[in-house]
Order: sequence, then C-alpha cells, then structure tokens
Amino acid sequence: MSTWLRRINSRILLKITLLVIIEIVLIVTSFGVLAYFQSQQSSLGNSINIAGKNRYLTANLLLQTEKYLYGLSSDTSQLKVAMNNLESNIITLKQGGMISGIDLTPLPSNFLDLWNIVDGRWNVFKTYITNKLLTSPQARTTSDQSLTRKVFESMASNMIESSDKLVTLLGQQTDKNSQYLILLQILFAILIIGILVLILYLVARMLRPIFALTQATSKVKKGNLDVSVKQKGNDELSVLSESFNSMVGSIKDYTKKRNELTKQLEAANEELKYKDQLKDEFINVAAHELRSPIQPILGLSEILRYGKNRGESSSKLSKEDELVLDIIIRNARRLLRLEQNILDMTRIESKTLHLDIETLDLNDIISNSIHDAQYEIDKGRVDLESNATKSNGTNRILIEADRARLTQVLSNLLSNAAKFSKEGSIIVNTEKKGSEAFVSIRDTGPGIQPDIMTKLFSKFVTNSSRGSGLGLYISKSIIEAHGGKIWAENNSDGKGATLTFSMPISQKVE
Ligand code: ADP
Repeated sequence: MSTWLRRINSRILLKITLLVIIEIVLIVTSFGVLAYFQSQQSSLGNSINIAGKNRYLTANLLLQTEKYLYGLSSDTSQLKVAMNNLESNIITLKQGGMISGIDLTPLPSNFLDLWNIVDGRWNVFKTYITNKLLTSPQARTTSDQSLTRKVFESMASNMIESSDKLVTLLGQQTDKNSQYLILLQILFAILIIGILVLILYLVARMLRPIFALTQATSKVKKGNLDVSVKQKGNDELSVLSESFNSMVGSIKDYTKKRNELTKQLEAANEELKYKDQLKDEFINVAAHELRSPIQPILGLSEILRYGKNRGESSSKLSKEDELVLDIIIRNARRLLRLEQNILDMTRIESKTLHLDIETLDLNDIISNSIHDAQYEIDKGRVDLESNATKSNGTNRILIEADRARLTQVLSNLLSNAAKFSKEGSIIVNTEKKGSEAFVSIRDTGPGIQPDIMTKLFSKFVTNSSRGSGLGLYISKSIIEAHGGKIWAENNSDGKGATLTFSMPISQKVE
C-alpha cells in the first residue's frame, strides 16, 4: 500500500495516471453515449415502422367498410378485426409494447401532439363506422351509400395524412439524430486522440532527461567528465539529473585530486628509487671495500696462528697469544661472511645471482658440508649424524645445482643448528620422494621463537646480536632459484627445530 502511495506521489506518474483515467472515462462515456443514441435511433426507426403501418391498416379498414357497405360481406367480424388492429396499432405507438414482433418504446413526448391528431381522427372515424355500420346496419341499404363511402374515404385519407406526417417528422428526427451522432463521434475521437497525444507528450518529456542522462553516462564511461545534464522542475528526474551532475562533479574533483596524488607519489617513488639505488651502490661499494682489509687480516692472523702451512702450529706463541689470535680469526671470519652475505643480498635484489649449474650428488655435497661443520659444533656434547655420510657413495641422489651455492645453504643451516644446540644431536637426513629430493636438518636447540617463525626467511630477521638475519633469506633465494622449496618447523617433541628443503632430482640418466 505504502509503495503504491509513494508511486502515486511521483508527480509525473500522477499526471500520466490522471490522463489515463480521463482517457478511460472518455472512452467508456463515448461508448455509452453512442450506444444510447444508437438505441434511440433504432426505437425511432421502430416507431416509424409502426406509424407507417397505420396507412396499410387504415386502407384495410376502408376496404372492409366498403365491402360491408356494399353488402359484399354481411359479417362484421372482419370489419371489427380491422378496427381493432388499427386501434391497437395507434395505442401501442403511443404507449409502447410488443406489436408485430417488435418491442416498441413509448413515443417521445415531442411527437404526442401529432399522435393526438392521429388518435383524434381515428376516434372520429371509429365513431362514424360504429354509427353508420355497426349500430344501425340498415344504413348500408340506404340510398346515401355513395355519400357514406365518400365520408369514409375522406376520413381514411385524413387518418393516413396525419399518420404520414408523424412518419415524416419521426424520419426528420432520426436524420437529426444521425447528424448529432456523427458530430459526437468526431468530438469523442478528437478528445481521445488529444488526450493520447498529451500522454505521449508527457512520456516523451519524461524520457527526454533519461535520454540526456544515458548520453551523459556513456560520455562519462568513455572518460569525458565535462558533462552535465540540464534540469528543470522538481520531479524525480530533475532530482536524478541533479544527483548525476553532483556525482560527476565529485568524480571530477576526486580524479583531479587522485591525479595530483599520483603525480606526487610518482615523484616520491622516483626519489625513493634513486635513494634506493644510491643505498645499493653504497652497500656494494662498502662490502667490496670491507673485503680488502679483511682478507689480509684473516690471512695473516691464520699464518701467525697456524704457521705458513696449515696444521703446523706455531710453538713460539704463548697460550694467551693463541687465544687473542683465535678471537681475531673468528671475528675476521664473521666479517668476511657478513660481507659475502651483503653482496649476495644485493645480487638477489638486483636479480643478478648467477648459478653455475652442474650435475651433482646431493649426498656428496652434504658429506663435505658436514665435515666442515664439525669444527663449529660443541664437540662431546653434540653429535652430528647423517644418513648421507653412511652411504659411502652407494646411495647417490643426482641433482642439477651450483655446488658453491648449495654448499652455502647447507653450511648456513648447519651453522644455525650448531649455534643453537648446546647438547643433544644434529641429524641430517636425505630422502628421495618421486621427482624430488628432501634434505632436513633436525637439531635439539630451543626451537625457533614464534615471533621469528612468522617472518623467517625474510631479510634482517634475527634475534642474535651477532647475526645479520641474512642467512635464511639468501638460502631461500638460492633454493628457489634451483626450483626447490625451503621451510622450517619446531619439532613435535618440543625440542629443537627442523629446517627442510626440497630439490628437483636430475632427469639426466647416469
Ligand atoms: P642469523 O643466523 O644471522 O640471525 P639467519 O637468517 O640464519 O640469520 O637466521 C635468522 C633467525 O632465525 C635467527 O636469528 C634465529 O632466531 C632463527 N633460527 C634460524 N635457525 C634456527 C634454529 N635452528 N633454531 C632456532 N632458531 C633458528
């Protein structure tokens, strides 16, 4: 109900609804009026028929009177029937009713005067017949037969004349009515067409802003925001046009602001890129510059500590000197590793990390890495075991990889495991599964801290004051560059962590 009312509230709809109602009323009225006139016409036609019949009935009566008058018939019944017929014809003509199979309507009042004349003449005629023929039948034989006949004839002719007048007048009335009918039909047609045109005009007026809106929206769609729709009045479409205009205005403002912001962002981005490039260049230069002093420091310290040929320890050094040299060597190595990590990071970022791919035995690389890592573990407290070392070359897993880079990954994972495991064991396991090889390094350290776990393998993620947080980031990049994956999980028994990586197995036949 409420939506219906709301719709009616719509001004345009209200106008159109009103016009449609008027149109319907007009059509129904025109049908009613025309039908009424038609029925009037047909009743007038019926009256004409019956009035016309007076002439025939009068003639018949005259015939009967003459037949009786001249003794051709001695029976009055036919005469009486003719009189009755004429009389009932005259009475029904006035009052209406069923006669000769026609349902006649009463005679319109404006014809009553004429009818009265007919009726009056009939009454005179009837009285004369009754007096001359019916009440005193001897009149038939009297000598004034021809006179009586003349009177009969003149009375009949009077009757016929007045009846004919009535017929003529009724005919004129139907003619007039026909003209009215045609005029009315024309009038109704003009009115109906006029209102239809008005409805069409209103609909067209209603559609005009919709058309303008459609054109404007298609322009907006093409990116032209310099459009506005003209608005007139205060109906819904004007409100819509106004909203459209203000919407386009807002979009224009927004686009302008967005363009300005985009420009600012682009400028800021350019500046950032430039600064980033400067930073990368600086890091690259700094890392390279670091290498020059570290290498002699490390090399010379190692010579001092271990002698020219590795292994022959210098006996001239005191225990204290040895301790100092060990500290220098350890820190110089850390610095060298940091420098290598920074260079690797810049290579990864600039996508210039180069791989020297060759077919390798994964177990062989693991054995070597484990051998090197022996120096890093807490001997006596931590065991380093692997199924790769036990195979003695019988259990080969061939992969396509860069030897140095893969060794770098393994050494990073092993040194992390060694760094965190103060006791227990580090177990390196290799396994073939389908077209992939899996390597896992399981330790018994404290496990990876939850806050680190979520961003492990990202740059600079570390909780160690001596770590750079680059090892796992570089390892991930190297493994992914080989088509593998790397992930970490804390052991389900609550002790330590396991880092696992996968590598595609070489498709080359051995
Ligand atoms: P760094 O060792 O220089 O900190 P990494 O990228 O190798 O850098 O490691 C990042 C961090 O991940 C470490 O600081 C440590 O918190 C955590 N982590 C790595 N491996 C282990 C492990 N085996 N056990 C516990 N934590 C680990």
